[in-house]
Amino acid sequence: MTQQNRRSFLSKLGLSAAALSLGLISKAEDRQFAATRKRKSKKEIFKGGLAVSTWNAGIPANEAAIKAMLNGGNAVDMAEQGVRLIEGELTHSTVGLSGFPDRDGFTTLDACIMAPSGRAGSVCFLEKIKHPVTVARWVMERTPHVMLVGEGAQKFALEQGMELLDFKSEDAVKAYKEWLIKSEYKPVINIENHDTIGMITQDSKGDIAGSCTTSGLAFKMRGRVGDSPIIGSGLYVDNLVGAATGSGLGETVLRACSAFLIVELMRNGAHPSEACEEAVKRVEKINSFMTDDFQVGFIAINKYGEHGAFSRYRGFNYAAHQNGKNILIDSEYLLK
Ligand code: ASP
Repeated sequence: MTQQNRRSFLSKLGLSAAALSLGLISKAEDRQFAATRKRKSKKEIFKGGLAVSTWNAGIPANEAAIKAMLNGGNAVDMAEQGVRLIEGELTHSTVGLSGFPDRDGFTTLDACIMAPSGRAGSVCFLEKIKHPVTVARWVMERTPHVMLVGEGAQKFALEQGMELLDFKSEDAVKAYKEWLIKSEYKPVINIENHDTIGMITQDSKGDIAGSCTTSGLAFKMRGRVGDSPIIGSGLYVDNLVGAATGSGLGETVLRACSAFLIVELMRNGAHPSEACEEAVKRVEKINSFMTDDFQVGFIAINKYGEHGAFSRYRGFNYAAHQNGKNILIDSEYLLK
């Protein structure tokens, strides 16, 4: 292939000439050449769809996402239906109305969704609504805005047909009572067995979407919002390149705009796991003033349906559903 042809071939993939001249995209090239050699049609490559999502609950969430696709849904339907299942279970301590409360005793929810078109919707500090991800989708599809918060988000959810649900899980009530004994202001982020769910989906056409939903840190200050509903930090999708999401101490991710960074690194040729690793290193650098310990973990997919992850500590995992198999994968990590 001549240099000229190679350039136009790569630019069709959305890879920049600058990245080419810096030699940053050799891996992407290799993969694309390999795919071309196999002469697989787009239909063949994407036919089973792809769903990846954080932590163990990613397994049932992925099942729901793929089911949505098999029922005729697109990548956005997959991303909504996948995490909606977990919100609706009302058994998780970091997702949905069963989530552990803030330090005033209220569970407040954050969620977002992003479509292949680049449209996005988000809700923050939402109370007594069972499915924040659906409200985020409605913000995306039914308003000219990207983000609604608090009372306004709740009002919108009710106007659009949601019901108020005053639910508290027994575990959350117990944990709050225990926390009140000391009332120590130390938001807790689990290093393992967490369940904030970030999901990325790719439908049978190869289109990419993503979602993220959480009740945030247990015993956070009232009004605190983390990275999860913030487009660019907790989730980012660029249909020409790929998508990224994650879980962990939101403040450390907000400072690093991690999801956007991961997508930009992939645009310049990094494999999803390399991009996640670089993003964890960036989080590490930007948060080097922190004295408290914390965990972050990212997952990403690229346009070719390759996925990867990386975390700060051991213990982060994600579920990947591809070619009919749904498996849990332990992430590589930085601090050994
Ligand atoms: N990222 C979420 C937050 O900081 C928490 C989590 O991932 O569990 O609100």
